[in-house]
Amino acid sequence: MNPKLLFWVPALLRLGLVFAAAGIVWWMFGVVAGLSLALAGAVTALFVQLSYLHHLGEWLNEPHSARLPDGWGAWTDVFARLYRLRREDERHQAELTEWLARFRQAMQLLPEGVAIMDDVLFLEWCNTAAERHLGLTMERDKGLRVTNLVRHPDFIDYIILGRYEQPLTLSFRGRKLECRIIPFENRRQILVTHDATDTERIEAMRRDFIANASHELRTPLTVIVGFLEIAMSDPGLDVATRTTHLKLMTEQAQRMQRLIQDMLTLSRLESDEFPLRRERVDMKEMIGSVAAEARALSNGRHQVEVEIDGPDVMGSPEELRSAFANLASNAVRYSPDGGTVRLAWKRGDGELRFEVADCGIGIDPQHIPRLTERFYRVDKSRSRETQGTGLGLAIVKHVLLRHGGRLSIASTPGKGSTFTASLPNTSLPG
Ligand code: ADP
Repeated sequence: MNPKLLFWVPALLRLGLVFAAAGIVWWMFGVVAGLSLALAGAVTALFVQLSYLHHLGEWLNEPHSARLPDGWGAWTDVFARLYRLRREDERHQAELTEWLARFRQAMQLLPEGVAIMDDVLFLEWCNTAAERHLGLTMERDKGLRVTNLVRHPDFIDYIILGRYEQPLTLSFRGRKLECRIIPFENRRQILVTHDATDTERIEAMRRDFIANASHELRTPLTVIVGFLEIAMSDPGLDVATRTTHLKLMTEQAQRMQRLIQDMLTLSRLESDEFPLRRERVDMKEMIGSVAAEARALSNGRHQVEVEIDGPDVMGSPEELRSAFANLASNAVRYSPDGGTVRLAWKRGDGELRFEVADCGIGIDPQHIPRLTERFYRVDKSRSRETQGTGLGLAIVKHVLLRHGGRLSIASTPGKGSTFTASLPNTSLPG
């Protein structure tokens, strides 16, 4: 039925009933009784309307669907419709709240920092990554101007100039941050921060490695090219000089070969394509051959002692051999003639240890943390003289890492050093 009719027909019927009753009373008991009844009916109807209006006003102060009163007459329909509207509204609100909670939770999990600022750069909201990157605390800093919180001249300039097409790279609180500002609805802005410290560090390491490797390879090549030029420009060079030049060229070529070999070893150790393949390593035999190699390198200038008091392990025989041989060769190369080098394989403190102790030149404490960096040398000329590539300890570190072990170094300048390669007890054969 037409909604207008639905409202008016029952209302007029109710009014008609009151007036009909008043007419009957008038006819039976006289005019005063009839009018009194009509008046009483009208006043009651008015009072009922006012009372429902009052209920509605009260309810609007706190419009919860559960508190909506039942109505009478036309009010029944009004309240029923209000109830439906309110229920719908409450459902939408619950959905929205749930979505907002999920959205915030997702934002908190982002590794990127996100901070929302209003048109005058007052902080409205930020996630935990932004708190960490920018040193903010949401509770404390909400409503404060972001340029007062991130006090860095480059950041302030970036915001003032408003050239947001390019990100800003900022050194802030000891980290490298990449910041972007994205304007959105009604001049609000989102500040997105990305912690690029590790990427920067890796990029710097890569640059250093390429520069160092190129330099290391160029030096022997320059020597070889120099001798070749001499040979070409002076065909009548005497045999003795020619032999000396050839000998020096061979040495330089061998140096390049060692370098390339070490670089390939390192890249293989770091590559996922070559996972560690463990097999039983006969430690007595392996350390015996490492000692024999050290004696050959020393050529009788040092005393090389061996003590084996540990078990065989599970690991890569080639990798462990290369790591242990590097340590033994360093001990010989950095010890003066007549020194003693001790190689020991033993158990200790829940792990297995290969110790190489020498009575050599020792290392100043300031260098120790950097020794396993590629191409890091305390004394460049000595390392080259003794055929070093500067990659030996980097290889040792990587081999041990792949085996779950570590390298520790104890040294006293002028007295000697002890390099300890520790392997976990789990490397024991089952
Ligand atoms: P290198 O090929 O130059 O020996 P390594 O990576 O093996 O390169 O060692 C790095 C540096 O650590 C060496 O250049 C040297 O300065 C120092 N070093 C290594 N082993 C010893 C040692 N046993 N005694 C003194 N210094 C050492």
